[in-house]
Amino acid sequence: MEQRTGAAWSEADLHQELGRLFGYAAFRPHQLDIVRSVLDGRDSLSIMPTGGGKSLCFQLPASLMRGTCVVVSPLISLMKDQVDAACANGLRAAAFNSSLSAAERAAVSASLRTGELDLLYVSPERFGVPGFWEALAACPVSFFAIDEAHCISQWGHDFRPDYLALSGLVERFPHCPVAAFTATATPAVEQDILSRLGLRDPRLIRASFDRPNLFYHVLPKEDLNAQLLAFLDRHAGESGIIYRSTRKKVEETAAFLRKKGLNAGAYHAGLPDAERARAQEAFRRDECPLMVATVAFGMGIDKPDVRFVVHLDLPKNLESYYQETGRAGRDGDPAHCLLLYSPADMSQLLYFARQIEDEEQRSITEKQAYAMLEYAERNQCRRKALLAYFGETYPEPNCGGCDVCTGEIAEEDYTIEAQKALSAMVRSGCRFGRVLIMDILMGADSRRIRETGFQSLPTYGVGKDRSRRFWRYLIDALTRQGLAAVEGVDYPILRVTESGWETLRGKPFHAMRIVETRARKSRKPEAELGPDEALFQLLRAERTRLAREAEVPPYVIFHDSTLRDMASRKPASLQAMLDVSGVGERKLGLYGDAFLAVIEAYRESGA
Ligand code: ADP
Ligand code: ZN
Repeated sequence: MEQRTGAAWSEADLHQELGRLFGYAAFRPHQLDIVRSVLDGRDSLSIMPTGGGKSLCFQLPASLMRGTCVVVSPLISLMKDQVDAACANGLRAAAFNSSLSAAERAAVSASLRTGELDLLYVSPERFGVPGFWEALAACPVSFFAIDEAHCISQWGHDFRPDYLALSGLVERFPHCPVAAFTATATPAVEQDILSRLGLRDPRLIRASFDRPNLFYHVLPKEDLNAQLLAFLDRHAGESGIIYRSTRKKVEETAAFLRKKGLNAGAYHAGLPDAERARAQEAFRRDECPLMVATVAFGMGIDKPDVRFVVHLDLPKNLESYYQETGRAGRDGDPAHCLLLYSPADMSQLLYFARQIEDEEQRSITEKQAYAMLEYAERNQCRRKALLAYFGETYPEPNCGGCDVCTGEIAEEDYTIEAQKALSAMVRSGCRFGRVLIMDILMGADSRRIRETGFQSLPTYGVGKDRSRRFWRYLIDALTRQGLAAVEGVDYPILRVTESGWETLRGKPFHAMRIVETRARKSRKPEAELGPDEALFQLLRAERTRLAREAEVPPYVIFHDSTLRDMASRKPASLQAMLDVSGVGERKLGLYGDAFLAVIEAYRESGA
């Protein structure tokens, strides 16, 4: 292939390659610009959210340019998948790392020297191995792609000293452009990446951090397990991650789900390596669709069809929340992010923050926790709030993809109820906690009621018409909105605040309507439940079979979005199959017939 510069590849050429290799009809935002920069021989830094489609940005030029694109990627455990996925699209890719045998390494080296590889994945530690630079210099390198480039910065959340070796790239390979990528970069990190890598007149590409296919949803905790089950019921058959804040809670939730007959894995740092690896693998391969985990799980999960991420505890800051929810819907299909929280979570976050010795760090951590709380509490468009945190202004008045904008949050006038609860606090002298206040409201005949003599209070039993669960929720709502304050750590008591007194004097009080937690009917969009659902399931089964045979995760064969498109188009020929999004030439050759047969059988069955 002759070596052409960017200008020599017309837009039509690039589109054609996009279709031929990847089976896509159009570029995603910024992909074309990044591809062009590489072809033009220009350095670049691209800041793109997870799922933005960054691998295509280096894979496409890698296939067009002579020589090998060296991809620096931090996680050896992921390389095999990345290589498999690239090969499945017909690219010539290999990984070079410590997990290879000597013979395998020799084979990779040989094909590298002769320029037979489009892509070589290496870990940053490789650059510290004596002789590696020299060996690489003897090979036809086309350009470098640096994945997770924020790892080079001490300001980032994931600094890896090995990345520092990469500052030698530009000097040693003056003719190779460097394309750096990251999904998280504050301005300080961005500057660090540019200067540490020594990028030359780089092109800066900053994509929007909006993830339009994610639906953001926040609910107050009521009956956690029941809420979770109801949610999972609506998402049956889908793959998702359930985050918990501690190992113990992970174990509890996983055990609970298994008891309910659901196939749930567990993952946290306290488990033996082998067990963790097994859980992760089963999740990746769709053998175990649910994963209950601490935040230790996720870095390096690039499973594209995670359909939901549930947080059963308040995350420690919005950055983590964005990263964790970002693991849903990488394939661009709709995905759901549900956060359940209670004021108790907040107390716990603040408790941990206060343990931090360094004063500055402590104050940052506290501020972050409050920002997280504000996100959960304020009934403002979630998307707008999240993006604002990253310095981005969301332009639309209604995002159509969060509980606030779609009107899922219904408020109710709870003034009378608030007055009952507040006066129970006042009448008992503001010296007691939630349990006793609930006892008073419910007219309970408990030992403490008898000891305190509160049966004679005028508020005793005024809340009998409501459940205990309701009162727990209402008292939480009162503290959340600042009408009552919790004081004391060992024996927390409830005190009525100034704004609580205003409501006692008649100022209206509204709170989110307490929600029914029994399973609701599915709210999935039509498309997912439409007439093609049966065929879609058949196609998935075929994919599972092929994936087992090839020993790769199912998504390496086809993504869900591709199968869905296939189910709705029902191609009757290989030519027609090429119109399906995600079917390129190579996959057509490998799997086209198998999937056509499924479609044909489905058609004949008269369904
Ligand atoms: P990132 O690495 O940025 O998180 P990926 O490179 O894994 O994202 O891409 C995310 C998903 O988007 C993958 O399923 C990929 O196949 C798909 N994708 C990438 N580019 C396109 C495109 N132009 N059209 C349709 N799907 C795309
Ligand atoms: Zn919104």
